[in-house]
Amino acid sequence: MSAQGDLAAAQTLLNGPEYHYLQDVYASGMEVFGQELKEYAYDRRAALKKRLSLENAGFLLSAVLLVASMLLASGRLRLQKALTLAASIARTDPLTELPNRRKFYEDVALALPEGNRKGFTHALLFVDLDRFKAANDAHGHKTGDKLLQQVAVRLRDILRPGDMIARLGGDEFALLVQVASDERLVTEAATSIAQRITVTLAEPFKLSDGLVITIGASVGIAIAQAGDVDYESLIHRADLALYQAKAEGRGCVRVFEAGMDDKVRTRAQLALELTQAVAADEIVPHYQPLINLQTGRVIGVEMLARWPHPRRGMVSPAEFIPMVEELGLIVKMTESLMCRACKEAATWRGQLTLACNISPAHLRDLNLPTFVRKALENTGFPADRLEIEVTESAFVGDIALARLILDQIKALGVKLALDDFGTGYSSLKHLQSLPFDKLKIDASFVGAMVIDKESAKIVAAVVGLGQSLGLSTVAEGVETEETAAMLRNLGCDIGQGWLFGRPGPAAEIERIMLETTSQSLSQYASI
Ligand code: C2E
Ligand code: CA
Ligand code: CA
Repeated sequence: MSAQGDLAAAQTLLNGPEYHYLQDVYASGMEVFGQELKEYAYDRRAALKKRLSLENAGFLLSAVLLVASMLLASGRLRLQKALTLAASIARTDPLTELPNRRKFYEDVALALPEGNRKGFTHALLFVDLDRFKAANDAHGHKTGDKLLQQVAVRLRDILRPGDMIARLGGDEFALLVQVASDERLVTEAATSIAQRITVTLAEPFKLSDGLVITIGASVGIAIAQAGDVDYESLIHRADLALYQAKAEGRGCVRVFEAGMDDKVRTRAQLALELTQAVAADEIVPHYQPLINLQTGRVIGVEMLARWPHPRRGMVSPAEFIPMVEELGLIVKMTESLMCRACKEAATWRGQLTLACNISPAHLRDLNLPTFVRKALENTGFPADRLEIEVTESAFVGDIALARLILDQIKALGVKLALDDFGTGYSSLKHLQSLPFDKLKIDASFVGAMVIDKESAKIVAAVVGLGQSLGLSTVAEGVETEETAAMLRNLGCDIGQGWLFGRPGPAAEIERIMLETTSQSLSQYASI
């Protein structure tokens, strides 16, 4: 029998004699196979050829070969029994033992008209796990499988009598629930179930060997009001709502609304263009100067990604980085940008530092330290002038893994900065236990400090914290000379912001370097 998920084996089997035998059996239209199984085998065979989905391949082959082996070895086994068993396998997800997509859709198709007759309203909830891929990549498929089994158990616990649940495939689950028929309360009731799902799936999962993994889930909801939608449209709507929920970040719940179709189409188009842009290395590094607040000199740069889009102009990373992460392209994009930035920065005069942002998802990639080492070796950029900026959200979930990776990067001689400090957990434990060199104070406090006393107090406290822990402090978002003066008085070491220079291409930084080597701080304001 085929090992599930083994594409090569699946393909060999597909070309092999058993499968051809089954095809012949299928083609001969033997009555005994029953209409259902014929349809199933046909569907799966078509799906296999089209999508080459590993799971489906293994799954189909399991079901089909089970029938084959029973048929071949039979004589004794009753064919009908074999077919019943195969039909049940064909409708159950073997990992979680939940109904699978096919069974669920069949049940939804039956439940809707029945609900209409009896006066129920149904809500279809599509659940997609957040960060599952990262957990699967970091800890292996076996752990991923156990995680999915535990997710299934938690979801089952939420079900009430009459509700239905299924694993649709991968990390996608679905529930069909009956909700209050009062029109005003329907959305509220469905949303409340969805929120229970996001809360329960955001709780840490304890796996074997003391491993604890935190994931989460996004939920898309579509509601079937008395006969207003057929089951296929309902599924399409739940899918659109889920897409929208995923697009808005993690742990989101969205209910289908008219007009979502257009939004989704636009996003899908953007996703396609972005995928092509990453593949063609069209995302480019820009650089923003970092200034020593006491001397007014440029001491380094932060590399900030930019997407020059043919129609939309320069797209901001705040808009496209979350999508790059979702598309699973963040490692590829970052590697390409970092190599390019190290190469460019290696040619600059002076001893400028280069700071690169690393996404939380990337900080779970065990290859990251090796990549950084190779990038430095290949470009000749010195390790002690490279800085890696991470935000505290990187430590949600598997802090041990993040620490391991940061320690290895630090061991190369690279510096580490904690970005956006003040906006996240602002955990002293993170600061104390992780090997940071720098603290970046978020622009939201810096920008407001001149007019808002509370923000000024926070900036002062963070600068003091940095000083007492021996970390240098960087103020982001310095837009006015007044802010720069306040920061200087507080003893903040480094400033970054429009006052000193906006992010620009490498040529721009070289120009700033040339023009400002011996100029005073106030002259940066005119750049
Ligand atoms: P960040 O790391 O906090 O970067 C600083 C952001 O503040 C940049 O936005 C910068 O252009 C902006 N900024 C600089 N000076 C000022 C100022 O005086 N006033 C105001 N209002 N803003 C200022 P940007 O370039 O749009 O980047 C946004 C975020 O995208 C970055 O925030 C970072 O989290 C992320 N990002 C950028 N490039 C990369 C990248 O290569 N990889 C990853 N993973 N994330 C990136
Ligand atoms: Ca940053
Ligand atoms: Ca920042």
